[in-house]
Amino acid sequence: MALPRGSLALSARLHVAHDGHVSLALSPSLLLGGGRWTHARLATDAQRGRHMLSSAFLPAGTIVCEAAALALCPLEEWRKRVCASCLAVAPSRLSNGCHSCESCFYCDGACAAAHAPSHARACAALRRLGALRKYGKDLQAMLRLLLDVLLAAPHEGKEMFFALEHHPPRRDRKAEAEWRRACALFRHALEACEGVEARGFSDEEIHALVSRLDSNCFGCYIEDSRREGAPPFAHGCYPAASLFNHSCAPNCTASTGLERIHIITHADVQCGEELTIAYIDVQRPRAARQAELRLMYHFVCACHRCAAEAIPAAREKCSYASAPRKQRTRREQKELRSQRRAAAQEGRGDGVASGVDWRGEEGGDGTVRAEEEGGEGGSAALWRRA
Ligand SMILES: [Zn+2]
Ligand SMILES: [Zn+2]
Ligand SMILES: [Zn+2]
Repeated sequence: MALPRGSLALSARLHVAHDGHVSLALSPSLLLGGGRWTHARLATDAQRGRHMLSSAFLPAGTIVCEAAALALCPLEEWRKRVCASCLAVAPSRLSNGCHSCESCFYCDGACAAAHAPSHARACAALRRLGALRKYGKDLQAMLRLLLDVLLAAPHEGKEMFFALEHHPPRRDRKAEAEWRRACALFRHALEACEGVEARGFSDEEIHALVSRLDSNCFGCYIEDSRREGAPPFAHGCYPAASLFNHSCAPNCTASTGLERIHIITHADVQCGEELTIAYIDVQRPRAARQAELRLMYHFVCACHRCAAEAIPAAREKCSYASAPRKQRTRREQKELRSQRRAAAQEGRGDGVASGVDWRGEEGGDGTVRAEEEGGEGGSAALWRRA
């Protein structure tokens, strides 16, 4: 797989102290895959593949990457309440919309006008994509996002997207037949687009593209709704952010933002340490995390938290509970009962690891903190799609 070429840039920041002293801070930035990294460098090894390392000591709250969206669109069930141009969420159904495709709705005429040039290229295809509804909203949403990826202007992020890994399909015969019909419909929609390469995509090529999106797109959530388990209202693809590996004890979090997201450290990071984010909800027990990562992202997590929790003394109670009963020894059963009692007394939820500090230095909830600290004042929080 060809590596996208990285280039170095220098960013300067003027700092005026309270005593009037003015200083200039210069920091080298790495431009890669439609993103800008600061204090980070790209590394590759056999075990981790491509990954990002910190190139200096980074205090909590340092922005290490600004990743631009290659494609970004509201989810099907939200399309009438989310402006297709600015992605603001309206309290009720929007009245301004494209009457031709019935796919894009807007806050007002200004948003519709701003979106008109890009929508003109997609409108006829979106009209045809409406028929994908019968194959389920997940597949429809992915193919809708894929359309935007294919229509995006060529740039380094797009090159990086096409170079990402993909995974073989796992479909039974019935699902395979549906998939082939959906692919035919998608190709029919693409034919309505000017500017998309004339060659027809094979079913296998469409699978490879959808697989890359599936593993690398971020969901957009209304602020504060994540804690209540609310579903995302939009999703986007940020190829630069795909260079971050997963850890169940991540040291970085994706911040709020839509057109671009920031990846921010939420704990102090030592020079040379790998910069990681969480692809899934890491507040769940080890077994559940491992199962989800295997199913959705096709890898077995070997992060230090998973390794620590695999040791019986440090294993969380939910791992015991999910183990087959006959494999539990008397001692384990006794431990499980005492852990349940302790958890009940403390009023803790499931999935809290015992004896393993994975929450960052201040012991707070890192997955939520970046949402609270989100620097851009956007209306949505972003999180890796589960
Ligand atoms: Zn708008
Ligand atoms: Zn339209
Ligand atoms: Zn892990």
